Amino acid sequence: MARRSSTSRARYLAGWADKKRAELIAKLGGKCALKGDGKCNGEIEFHHPFGRDWNLEDFSRWQRVIKYRRESDLGLIELRCRYHNRRDSYQQQDSFDPSRF
Ligand SMILES: [Zn+2]
Repeated sequence: MARRSSTSRARYLAGWADKKRAELIAKLGGKCALKGDGKCNGEIEFHHPFGRDWNLEDFSRWQRVIKYRRESDLGLIELRCRYHNRRDSYQQQDSFDPSRF
């Protein structure tokens, strides 16, 4: 009984998170911020241009959505396709490339 209800609660929260995530992406324009170079590929993700002070692994899917919503209200996130998000995350760790600006 307890197990069953906790499973349905988890399923409800996962569905809620997916819905809120889609709403937030739509609110932010629904497109990669770097679409101008025509290389966009993959699903839309949230990118932190000023860095992220928390680890994705520490939060569940619905907890992340709550953080993203708060960050979007503060102007701390923008949308990136998977390709651009991976590329920029790598560059931030590796080296600064002034040709991007
Ligand atoms: Zn892109």
